[in-house]
Amino acid sequence: MDEKKNELFYQPKNGYDRIDTAGRLAMEEYCKGYMAYLDAARTEREAVSEAIKLAEAAGFVDVSALTGPIAPGQKVYHSVRGKSLLLAVGGKKPMRDGVVVEAAHVDSPRLDLKQRPLFEDTEMGYLRTHYYGGIKKYQWTAIPLELHGVVALKDGSTVDVVIGRDPADPQFVVTDLLPHLAADQMQKTLAKGIEGEKLCILAGSVPYAGEGSDRVKLAVMSLINDRYGITEEDFISAELEVVPAFDVRELGLDRSLIGGYGQDDRVCAYAELAAILEQSEPERTAVCILADKEEIGSVGVSGMRSQAFERFIGQLAGDAGLVQECFSNSLCISADVTVAFDPMYPEVCEKQNAARINYGVGFSKFTGSRGKSGSSDASAEVVATVRRICDEAGVAWQMCELGKVDQGGGGTVAGFMADRDIDTIDAGVPVLSMHAPFETTAKFDCYMTYKCMKAAYEAK
Ligand code: MN
Ligand code: MN
Repeated sequence: MDEKKNELFYQPKNGYDRIDTAGRLAMEEYCKGYMAYLDAARTEREAVSEAIKLAEAAGFVDVSALTGPIAPGQKVYHSVRGKSLLLAVGGKKPMRDGVVVEAAHVDSPRLDLKQRPLFEDTEMGYLRTHYYGGIKKYQWTAIPLELHGVVALKDGSTVDVVIGRDPADPQFVVTDLLPHLAADQMQKTLAKGIEGEKLCILAGSVPYAGEGSDRVKLAVMSLINDRYGITEEDFISAELEVVPAFDVRELGLDRSLIGGYGQDDRVCAYAELAAILEQSEPERTAVCILADKEEIGSVGVSGMRSQAFERFIGQLAGDAGLVQECFSNSLCISADVTVAFDPMYPEVCEKQNAARINYGVGFSKFTGSRGKSGSSDASAEVVATVRRICDEAGVAWQMCELGKVDQGGGGTVAGFMADRDIDTIDAGVPVLSMHAPFETTAKFDCYMTYKCMKAAYEAK
């Protein structure tokens, strides 16, 4: 009977029952590189600038160097206003035959400073925030925080701000109520327990010497001015992001897991980046996208709905008129994380169709919510294509869905790629505690996602 089962049943295996010693060494090596990238890339801008460093070291040059269609083996990139990044390696086939595009995003949920953030209350200095993306607000209190971003000045220059990353730097916190006095708060739902307007970061407490009002506010502003030369009005044209200060660490006694902020979706961004950096002359032109604004709907000039992508493809083709033909012959891997089955919360998933930790890269035929609403729902043919690509390359993969039917749902950039007439499927790393300040992934799944991205670029 076992023989018959082996012949007929689909029986996925735990990754550790299929990876050999050499594979494990390669996995550890890959994950070291990923963890270093994640540690250095705490915002979308940093994810882009770190990626450009790696790309330039691998021989990529600005796309403006192209004088005609991209040549086989030619490596170019285009930074979309420093907030999203498009890279390509020229393939053997012409652009009209389509490209293999892999699209991840590098923005993550966070607290943005408001445009007029600074205030003082009861001789304590604060910076007001407006959260970005889907967060559980209570998770952002009483944890160490850092401030990263830019201040754009009227003279056209920008000032880079990073406070809290250097171990010698101070950090920030959003305070929470002590349990002793939280009887009323504890009666509230998790959604209401911490209000958005209460997510203010503590910025100082020492008053400026002398008499008068707003002395702590003045002292804080004065310290910011000493460090960055800016005044309060300059916050108005700033993008300052409050992000968790946790280091990226191995988790578990067996060190099989990775903990860190912003793994959604820098874990997939790094996977496709590492994969494209290794391409020399693929069959079809390889395109790698690190998009911005996915967490708020892929909007804006740096989001996946932006025409910046069409322009880039036109540049690669050497002819904007070929873009649509190229799209219709292309394959897109929408590289985004999925939910990993959590034994502590089994009730939100249907186990047979949930992604499992250590079972490899997770494909989602569809996302969306309710009756697959909002999902681009990859065709059976596209699913078959990626099954073949992964199996031929020895990639451990699993098919999964984002929670059980009617539990909730979500979306990725997939729909915006499919709207362009590109065959698209979601694939990515299963994550525990997604969107939390400290997210968890498995090394095996991170490595297999990279192998999947590489196999897709190298597919014949
Ligand atoms: Mn995502
Ligand atoms: Mn997300």
